[in-house]
Amino acid sequence: MLLAGLARDGGLYLPKSWPVLPPETIRAFATMPFADIAVEVIHPFTGDTISRSELKRMADEAYASFGDAAVAPLVELAPHRYILELFHGPTLAFKDVAMQLLARLMDHVLEKRGQRAMIVGATSGDTGGAAIEAFRSSKRVDVVILFPDGRVSDVQRRMMTTPTEPNVHAVAVKGTFDDCQALVKAMFNDHAFRDRVQLSGVNSINWARIVAQVTYYFAAASRLGAPDKPVSFSVPTGNFGDIFAGYVARRMGLLIQQLIIASNENDILPRTVTTGAYAMNGVVATSSPSMDIQISSNFERYLFEAAGRDAGVIRGLMSDLASKQRFELGTLWPVLKADFAAAAASEDDVAKCIRETETRYGYVLDPHSACGVVAANRAGTRDGALVVLATAHPAKFPDAIEAITGNRPKLPARLANLMTDKERFEVLDNDLAVVENFVERAAKAPENAAR
Ligand SMILES: *Cc1c(COP(=O)(O)O)cnc(C)c1O
Repeated sequence: MLLAGLARDGGLYLPKSWPVLPPETIRAFATMPFADIAVEVIHPFTGDTISRSELKRMADEAYASFGDAAVAPLVELAPHRYILELFHGPTLAFKDVAMQLLARLMDHVLEKRGQRAMIVGATSGDTGGAAIEAFRSSKRVDVVILFPDGRVSDVQRRMMTTPTEPNVHAVAVKGTFDDCQALVKAMFNDHAFRDRVQLSGVNSINWARIVAQVTYYFAAASRLGAPDKPVSFSVPTGNFGDIFAGYVARRMGLLIQQLIIASNENDILPRTVTTGAYAMNGVVATSSPSMDIQISSNFERYLFEAAGRDAGVIRGLMSDLASKQRFELGTLWPVLKADFAAAAASEDDVAKCIRETETRYGYVLDPHSACGVVAANRAGTRDGALVVLATAHPAKFPDAIEAITGNRPKLPARLANLMTDKERFEVLDNDLAVVENFVERAAKAPENAAR
């Protein structure tokens, strides 16, 4: 099942049934290393395709690149209020947690099959760097990442353009993020091209990425007393990927009291919870760009579950969305409200929260994580532990933080050379033929044939 999610990108993949972890297993997680918890959470999905010991080797390797031995440390801000730091990976955002493991899983599968793959992805900032970092040591995968020229931060761009390995390529497209995404979609729809270069994707609807994210819900909750005590989570989300991983954890037997959807001013999900209608209305740019999204692809996965896996219901909703830019949840609305709380943070809320958290606790949040804290304060329960997922390191968004606090956050020492290393990237026109030509040459590059 995991392999199907790895092999291609079409359709939204879900397992036939949810494996449930017994209470004593969850209890034991409290003292286990993160990589070992990952093995217990992921192995039920891989079955015999990947042995436990192979999975363990891959998880150990993936999480060795993290700057904190705990991989995802919990920080107590106030009584019962915690921050789960998911930003200790090589590109300082939570996407490393899944991507580092995904790269090893893909290499392993391709090795067994004697195949190579070409990953092409579009990024508005964080995914591209995480993919390039994860696959730079891959022997079987080439990566081409398209980013909108001049529209990602210096730190984000340099994370994509400074790795020197010949199998990873960053491409600045003269256009917007939507143009980049349209190019990727067009390449996937060009079947002859797709087969020629063995095209594959790693965007946030990739099922293996979601499964890998389930690990930290179990890890954090067990350290706070699960399964004997309920724990709540507030999750900064745009594409509904990170919060869907929390929902999966719940289906796998983790007692989660509240799952709080935290949005920025692009508040389509909180509005859906409040009104029962999913209604699109334009994206606005915020200080938390990785959540500037209107179409939450993974929300479709959740709706399928909420509808008791009735594909006909989902087809109806999606066709309404295509023709009217909205759909009514109807009987699914009470189900949604029972599963999730939600709140949105305005740009003022985010700035105020970052300032207050620094003054009160001496802790600097990044703007995405601040949305999580705002939503926790607005919609969170008073009883039991409440964990806010911190999805990025503040130094990844230094301009926003400096504008709010007056201080420029410093990059961790292991990234000391990032801002001075030599950059290497291609600038291409927003033209399918031009980009396909580049990808094809990258797939055939002589250094690949030699490996
Ligand atoms: C990608 C990203 C998010 C949102 O993740 P979803 O998959 O949309 O849930 C939040 N914060 C940061 C820093 C990100 O990079």
